[in-house]
Amino acid sequence: MTQKIDFSILKHLTQLPGISGRETAVSDYLKKLLTPFADTVRTDALGNLIFTKKGTSNKNLLLCAHMDEVGLMIHFVDKDGFLRFVTVGGIDPRTLLAQRVWVQTASGPLLGIIGTKPAHITTEAERSKAVALKDLFIDLGLPAQEVKERVQPGDFAVLDRSYEEFGDGLISAKALDNRAGVFVLAEVLRQLKNPFYNVYAVFTVQEEVGVRGATTAAFGIEADFCLCLDTTGAADIPGVCPQDVLVRVGAGVGISALDARTITPKPLFDALLNLCKEKQISYQVRIATRGGNDAGAVHLSKTGVPSCALSLPTRNIHSNVEVCAKRDIESMIHLVVLCAMQAIIY
Ligand SMILES: [Zn+2]
Repeated sequence: MTQKIDFSILKHLTQLPGISGRETAVSDYLKKLLTPFADTVRTDALGNLIFTKKGTSNKNLLLCAHMDEVGLMIHFVDKDGFLRFVTVGGIDPRTLLAQRVWVQTASGPLLGIIGTKPAHITTEAERSKAVALKDLFIDLGLPAQEVKERVQPGDFAVLDRSYEEFGDGLISAKALDNRAGVFVLAEVLRQLKNPFYNVYAVFTVQEEVGVRGATTAAFGIEADFCLCLDTTGAADIPGVCPQDVLVRVGAGVGISALDARTITPKPLFDALLNLCKEKQISYQVRIATRGGNDAGAVHLSKTGVPSCALSLPTRNIHSNVEVCAKRDIESMIHLVVLCAMQAIIY
C-alpha cells in the first residue's frame, strides 16, 4: 500500500446510527467527507448515495457498499413504559440479551437496556429454552408518561458498543457489517486519481432487508461490471468443522465464487485472482451456500451485469461485537483501487 489508512474514519462510521431504511446519518457524513473527491454526487429516491469519478476510458465500473446495519424498530410502548420491538434484518435474539441500545427519538437518542425476566423468578424449563424476541423488552428508565411522550412506534434503535482495536490487528465494533465495506469504498474514492474506468461509487440502502437499494441503484447506471464490497460471516471459531469455516479473519479479502444469490462469471473471478497473485494481495476464495449481498441484485439488473462480491471475513456477524481484521480491509482497498486503475476485463 502506498497510503497510510486512517482507521479513525471507520471508527466514526461504526458509531453512527443507521438501520435499514434509516441511513441518513451515514449518508450525510459520507456526502460531506467524499464530495471533494468526486466529479458528481446525487441521492436517489430510495436514499442511495451515488458518486461518480470520470475515467480515461468509456467503460463503467460500479462499486457498491451498503450503508445500513441490522437493528430494532419499536412497535409498542406498554402501560409501564417498557418498549417492545421487532428486528430489522437478521438478528439472533440470543445476542440481544443484556445489551444496551440507543433509541432514536425525535427529541434525540435515549439509552435503553434490553431486559428479560430474571433467572430467580423463572422455572428451570423456561431457562433451558433459547431466549425469544417476545420475551425481551427495552427499559428506558423513565416514567411511563415521559416514555409515551418521547417514543413513537416506528422509532428505531441501534445496538450500542464502542469501537475497539485489539489482539493481532483486529477491530471489534457494532455495524462493521457493513461500515467496514463503506470505509473501503470511501478510501478507494479518496485514493483514486485518473482511473481507467468511469467509477460509480454507490452507497446503498436496505441491503439487510433484501438488497432493495442496490436494485434501484443498478437500474439507473450502465455498468460494464460491478464489485460489491461487504462483510461475510467467518466461522473460524471453536466447535466448527473445517469445511464450515468458509473464510478466516485476517487471511485476506474474500473473493466470492458463489453465494446464495450469485455465481461470479469466470472471466471476472479469474481476473481478480490473477491480480491478487500478481500484486501479492492476501485473498481467500469464498463459497457460501447461504447469504447474499448487493451483487445478487446488481447482476440481474437490466440485461445483466457481471458482478462479484468482495467480502471482509467477520466473526459474530450481525451482533454488536463483530470482529474484522485491519489487514483484510487494507487488502480489499488495495485490490479495488487496482481494479479501477487498469483494464482488468470488460
Ligand atoms: Zn452486509
